[in-house]
Amino acid sequence: MTNEIWGQVQKQIEETVGKNNYTTWIAPLTFSKIDAGIATFHVPTQFFGNWVQRNYGETIHARLSTVDPSISRVEFVVVKPTAPAMSGRGAQSNRTSVVKSKELPGAAIDSRFTFESFVVGKPNELAHAAAKRVGEGGPVTFNPLFLYGGVGLGKTHLMHAIAHELKNSSPDLNVVYLSAEQFMYRFVQALRERKMMDFKELFRSVDVLMVDDVQFIAGKESTQEEFFHTFNALVDQGKQIIISGDTSPGEIKGLDDRIKSRLQCGLVVDLHPTDYELRLGILQQKVEQYRGEYAALVIDDGVLEFLALRISTNVRVLEGALTRLFAFASLVGREITMELAKDCLADILRASDRKITIEEIQRKVSEHYNIRFSEMVGPRRHRTIARPRQVAMYLSKHMTSRSLPEIGRRFGGRDHTTVMHGVRKIEELKAIDNQIFEDLELLRRTLEA
Ligand code: ADP
Ligand code: MG
Repeated sequence: MTNEIWGQVQKQIEETVGKNNYTTWIAPLTFSKIDAGIATFHVPTQFFGNWVQRNYGETIHARLSTVDPSISRVEFVVVKPTAPAMSGRGAQSNRTSVVKSKELPGAAIDSRFTFESFVVGKPNELAHAAAKRVGEGGPVTFNPLFLYGGVGLGKTHLMHAIAHELKNSSPDLNVVYLSAEQFMYRFVQALRERKMMDFKELFRSVDVLMVDDVQFIAGKESTQEEFFHTFNALVDQGKQIIISGDTSPGEIKGLDDRIKSRLQCGLVVDLHPTDYELRLGILQQKVEQYRGEYAALVIDDGVLEFLALRISTNVRVLEGALTRLFAFASLVGREITMELAKDCLADILRASDRKITIEEIQRKVSEHYNIRFSEMVGPRRHRTIARPRQVAMYLSKHMTSRSLPEIGRRFGGRDHTTVMHGVRKIEELKAIDNQIFEDLELLRRTLEA
């Protein structure tokens, strides 16, 4: 083994943590060895090691253990003794680690993902309530609970929270959480080692089974087959099952129809994209958490609001932004001002800007002025059409990173000078025409939401 395993999983870790976090925290790790189930990495400073352990330790461990299940924890060891990276923190032990529970076939539960640390808002209200209900235990009311939604909206968090809750109230309960990928890995391994009976027994003896990201097994015939049998056996015994996916069961391509209909039998709830209030709530909560660790941190008014407004992709990116901001500010010992935030997060901010497309703008503006999309990009020059078209050009110029010629092309192949004229016209009107001003504000807000 060794460096190869690390090489294999790095890409997956990058996908999980995002490119920025990857570059900052994962790429600098030097793989050292695997010994007695402990994977050791070298890190440049203690601060770095603690940070990676706390924020990415479980991810790294989970990934490594899908390739080599004998790995039971990961450790980060400082190679060169360097000056402490920041003041105000006492020296800590040289090694920190994540220990995984041995007996169960599942993956480790992240201790940070609890109901207390989950911020509830309109978009996730129902999913939270359903998860809470399942976390209370007792007679199974809906089986399975199927949670779905886009990346980083809190599915895994809620599943772990359920596991904590159940383990707290009934420590003897056999609660197993794993990703569909790990399920497949274990299944394949059992086949290879001719231990299918053990595999079946193990999975049929759990009290609560959680399988995360079930879309992963789509198209994988024999894994699906085995999953189906496990699922049925547990449901027949009245055992609770919780599944997550990136779309509703019916929409998962390549998933067996029998499984789809089984998954739809229980309660299917989705996590909607976050709204501004929820994002702000999450940021405020994270700040409270960090405060406990870095008491000296100061954040200027308006910075959190700015981040909640501008980073609307997903919660993981939002958290990553805050983490980076804190790490940076504490390393250089500065307070977090708007300027520092814009500087330090320029790439993330740019990436979330790119999200709004010209077509979205054209559609929203057409809707707003009650004209057809085909008219928006068509040849007519009548003012009832031309004005909305100019508004859309103006918004495209200001809300996307597209150039004038590109914008022109998307508006039925118009010249860039036409676009420039349109943009100027709206700039003029905006200053003198209240109606246009309000239209622009409203459109901008709905597009950013
Ligand atoms: P998913 O599994 O849906 O892709 P996760 O559960 O992994 O998303 O969430 C991504 C990150 O965002 C996690 O660190 C999680 O704690 C955080 N997060 C997501 N939603 C919330 C929320 N409502 N409150 C607090 N943290 C959240
Ligand atoms: Mg997840």
